[in-house]
Parts: sequence; structure tokens; C-alpha cells
Amino acid sequence: MAQPDVLIVGGGIIGSACARALALQGVSVQVVDDGREPGAATAASAGMLTPFADAHHDDPMLALGIRGRDRYRDLAPELKAETGIDIQLWTGGIFHLAFTQTDVERLKDDVAWQRQSGYTSDWLAVEELRQAAPGVSPDAWGALLAGEDGSLDPKALHDAFRASAEKHGASFVRGQKVERVRIEDNRVVGVRTATESISAGAVLIAGGSWSGRLRGLPRPLSVEPIRGQMVAFDWPAGLPHCIAFGHGIYALRRGNEALAGSTMEHVGFEPTVTDTAIQHIAQAAARIFPALAGKPVRRSWAGLRPGTPDGRPFLGQDPVVTGLWYAVGHGRNGIGLAAVTGDIIADLYAGHSVEHDLASTSPGRFWT
Ligand SMILES: Cc1cc2nc3c(=O)[nH]c(=O)nc-3n(C[C@H](O)[C@H](O)[C@H](O)COP(=O)(O)OP(=O)(O)OC[C@H]3O[C@@H](n4cnc5c(N)ncnc54)[C@H](O)[C@@H]3O)c2cc1C
Repeated sequence: MAQPDVLIVGGGIIGSACARALALQGVSVQVVDDGREPGAATAASAGMLTPFADAHHDDPMLALGIRGRDRYRDLAPELKAETGIDIQLWTGGIFHLAFTQTDVERLKDDVAWQRQSGYTSDWLAVEELRQAAPGVSPDAWGALLAGEDGSLDPKALHDAFRASAEKHGASFVRGQKVERVRIEDNRVVGVRTATESISAGAVLIAGGSWSGRLRGLPRPLSVEPIRGQMVAFDWPAGLPHCIAFGHGIYALRRGNEALAGSTMEHVGFEPTVTDTAIQHIAQAAARIFPALAGKPVRRSWAGLRPGTPDGRPFLGQDPVVTGLWYAVGHGRNGIGLAAVTGDIIADLYAGHSVEHDLASTSPGRFWT
């Protein structure tokens, strides 16, 4: 490709979503991904769309999370028509189970503020829960049902974003690592890989947990890896499709598997599993869905979520360097936020206004 308008560093779910959104607006895009970092978050993800899972009522990310989740209702058929890929969108709701009186109080409180804020969540008493989710443990005391939350297959979404971006003219260079961002007179001019210099009108940093390792950035990027471990069992025959949180973990169905996770560990760039965590997750999963008790763990894996100090991503242009953009640091919610992140970056790049509190995710917020 001749010099691209935008060169994207990193082709995970965020880089790919941004590539598609920019390409749809006629921007020429090149994505460079080294493809060799073990522990890339996208492939490790559970794929839940759950904006309420960690949210508080005054959290500026809540509205964005809900928009992000709902965006997939239009996008799923659009991507299917464009690429033939079914992202396996499930919108049947997520149960947050109570197993103690403290859980009951916390979850009822959540239902109250969510309903006060106009969101649809419900408290289900034991009998209602049994009817709505017959596979979950009879030990549960009730549940918050986030009725519009759900899940998708993150690998399928990743493939679909890439295929669609390519269809709209974006190019993907795989197996190359960007080592340095080139900046002259406070303006981006391109990047340097191990083998070549690539000129570009703008550079978008979307390298997940590794983004802070790029040389040449105007200031340190506050992104660090947060390890998450996962396990998979065969989905028990006869167990109805269901996603549930409880005992500090979650379990969900994807295809013929039950996936369960996860941990939040600050252990550096170590995408390895530990026996203790895998055992803990497997046991907790069986306390959510008793049909999993005694089932062998089929596989286990770990991924590195790109975390930031306040749990919010960096979205938008650098406050000082023209043409340097960021879409990084999505932590636990990067699948849910991927499509809306692409929309925001493409709109900002085109100079359009966006419906989002940009200050809450400003790339310079820890430094200016
Ligand atoms: C166990 C686990 C469960 C999760 N569950 C959920 C969930 O249920 N719902 C949800 O919304 N989110 C979930 N997440 C979070 C979500 O997966 C991440 O937020 C998201 O995948 C981040 O995407 P990314 O593109 O920023 O990073 P990544 O997927 O890590 O991609 C970054 C890419 O950039 C490349 N790269 C980095 N540096 C360079 C360089 N210098 N040059 C070239 N390429 C480079 C890397 O090789 C990699 O391919 C989960 C994460 C984990 C680990």
C-alpha cells in the first residue's frame, strides 16, 4: 500500500474494529500486528457483553458500555451479510447469583439504582430464578438478572472485523513488530519496524498490553497487563443455555463448551496458568452449574488484559502530538467496547462530534 492515512499498531479486536470503522469512511488504513505476543487478550476472552458487571451509577463508562453492547444488535447481521461470519450474538440476559445475605443486599441495591437510572434489571427470588435458569445451583438465594446483557464469540467477531475491514480496503501486515513511533516537530510521520520505516499520515496505538513498550511515544503510556485465567469443560447435555456470575467467577456457554473464569492478576507479562487458579475456577463453576461437578477440564489458558490505573481506556488524539491516536486500555471490557471504540475513533478522525464524555477517556488525563 502507498503511504496509508492511518497506520494502526496492533490488530487485536480493538485495532481491527478501528480499521473497519475508518475504512468504511474511506480512510486508507494499514494494520501492523506482530502476531507473536503470547497472551493477546482477544483470543483469551470470554466474550461477554456485560456493562453492568463492574459498574457504579456514577461511572462514565456505563453509558458507553451499554451503547457498545447494543451496537452488536445491528452489527451482527451487518457483519454476517458482509463477511458470512456469524458472531454468535446471544442476548438472553446474564444472572448474577446471590449465595449469601451479603450478596442479596448488594445485588438488590444494584437492581434499585439500575432501575432508578432507567435500566432494565430485575431481582429474581428463588422460585423465579429456578424457572428462568433451571440449570443453576439450588443453593442460590436469588439473582439479579441483567436482561439485555449477553455474549458473542470474540474470535468470530475478530475475524469478521478483519474480513470486513479488508473488504473496505484496509490492509493487514502480519508478523511485523512496530518498534518505534516516528515523530518530527510534534507531528507523527510514521513508524519503524525491525526491517523498514513506514510513513503514515497518522498512527493509532492499539497494541493492547504491549503498547507501553513502544519507543518514541511522547510520554509513558499507563497500560499494564492484567492476567486472566480461564477453563473449558464440555457443555453438559441437557443444560439450557445460560450465563451466570457467582462465587467471584462467571460461567457461560460457547458452542459445545462451558467456559469459566477468571482471575485479575498483576503478574507482568506472564500469560501462563496456575494449578491453584484453574482448580479454584473449576470448583466455583461447578457450584454455579452443578452439572459441571466431576467433569474434566478440557483446556485452560490465560490472557493479558490491557489495564489502566482508572480502568478506562485511552481514546482519541494525543494532546500534544498531531496525528498520534490511541485506542488502548480496555481492560475487562474490550470485546463489549470494540465496535463503539471503532465508531468513536473514526468519527473523531473525521472531525465529527461524538456522543461520549471524551474527558473520561482522554489520552492525556494522567499527564496534563
Ligand atoms: C481471560 C479474559 C477474559 C475476558 N473476558 C472478556 C469479556 O467477557 N468481555 C469483554 O468485553 N472483554 C473481555 N476481556 C477483555 C478483552 O479481551 C480485551 O479488553 C480486548 O481483547 C483487548 O483487545 P486489544 O486489541 O486492545 O488487545 P489484544 O487482543 O491483546 O491485541 C493487541 C495486539 O497488538 C499486537 N501488538 C502489540 N504491540 C505491537 C507492536 N509493537 N507491533 C505490532 N503489533 C503489536 C499484539 O501482538 C496483539 O495481537 C477478557 C480478557 C481476558 C484476558
